[in-house]
Amino acid sequence: MSAVNIALQPRPVDASVDHAIQAIVAGSTTGETCNTDLAAGPWDFDTRPGYGPGSSMGDVIPTGSPRQGELPREYREAGEDELDARIRAAKQTLGERVVVLGHFYQREEVVRHADYVGDSFQLANAALEHPDAEAIVFCGVHFMAETADLLSRPEQAVILPNLAAGCSMADMADIDQVEECWEQLADVYGDMDAKDADGLVPVIPVTYMNSSADIKGFVGRHGGIVCTSSNARTVLEWAFERGRRVLFFPDQHLGRNTAKAMGVPLEQMPMWNPRKPFGGSDADTLDDARVILWHGFCSVHRRFSVEQIDKARAEHPGVRVIVHPECPMEVVDAADEAGSTDYIRKAIEGATEPTTFAIGTEVNLVQRLAAQHPQHEIFCLDPVVCPCSTMYRIHPGYLAWVLESLVAGEVVNRIEVPADVAEPGRLALERMLAAKPPAGRVETTGKRA
Ligand code: SF4
Repeated sequence: MSAVNIALQPRPVDASVDHAIQAIVAGSTTGETCNTDLAAGPWDFDTRPGYGPGSSMGDVIPTGSPRQGELPREYREAGEDELDARIRAAKQTLGERVVVLGHFYQREEVVRHADYVGDSFQLANAALEHPDAEAIVFCGVHFMAETADLLSRPEQAVILPNLAAGCSMADMADIDQVEECWEQLADVYGDMDAKDADGLVPVIPVTYMNSSADIKGFVGRHGGIVCTSSNARTVLEWAFERGRRVLFFPDQHLGRNTAKAMGVPLEQMPMWNPRKPFGGSDADTLDDARVILWHGFCSVHRRFSVEQIDKARAEHPGVRVIVHPECPMEVVDAADEAGSTDYIRKAIEGATEPTTFAIGTEVNLVQRLAAQHPQHEIFCLDPVVCPCSTMYRIHPGYLAWVLESLVAGEVVNRIEVPADVAEPGRLALERMLAAKPPAGRVETTGKRA
């Protein structure tokens, strides 16, 4: 198996956010977490509605969100070393029958078992390289497993080790709300399929990869496209070649930061609040709009602030500040660079001189990058240890459980997208794959100083 497991590189520093949280809660080190419940087992929260402790703990979870059934006691009570050994043994037994994918934001204790580590789209593509694997175990969140299911062969089982690992941002664009929004926009713009004198339809829907399969299916049915944080500009250009405006969901910040960098004025980017009639806008504003931004955000990236950047610059003269484009616009504007997780990783790898980096993205990735690049000083802009709530729910206990179940011939926690959603969802993904940036342009999504 051609693994690209970046966790296989030497780790001179403990990259485990879990260890940091345990040490903080035990009082053996100074620091703070966003909630001491992080030190508990994720199974303590599986039967309760909510995202669990971490960055999204204050977000409202939709009714009917998937819940995880009880994890067998043996996995809840096993220690870290035992789980580590059991996961390795199960993987050894399964061999090429299984491929394990680990998202950049996943905890170290899980990522070390991944055959591939990457962002959601890189991982879905990695799964494509293993058409003969019977099972794809996706150590990420729900929408990522759905995307892998869209792209994998029907016989392959995509498994999410903890069904409660959703994504608060993806949940902010509910299919019923999006359908209603589309109807209201049709009241303003008329026939949504009619082309004007320039050959443009009124609106092209664009969804961030971080959205449910239902939303990707909606976009596919309405001539739209999916984007990632790596190709958002290219995708918006694709959309503006076909439509007068873009409806962008679920992340307002990625939409705003990308469109602003392309020269779209802020006053032509109204927000669509699904709880208000016409999104809280009026007909004139919508008529003048170039990008209609859905009222969604990532609770991890919303934590970063201009004050944190000012502090980093004051305490570390010459610091290079790189943030993810899911951060608010003011934060992107105050940073030196903005780009996807892959951009951040490559920027650090490409630095030839010892450099101080202040990074605005999920703490697990930042801590792992710091461990892998001891020649640089790398720290998270947010000093509070607060991981993505839902990624954090994939504890090694769940990974051991799903792998040992496969060894026993049982597929648990399979994620399957219904065919009527999968077909248009795949179409929206294929449009994205076909959209290419102009030759020579390296996409950073936001700004580069
Ligand atoms: S980091 Fe944000 S967008 Fe990513 S899974 Fe967590 S809540 Fe969702």
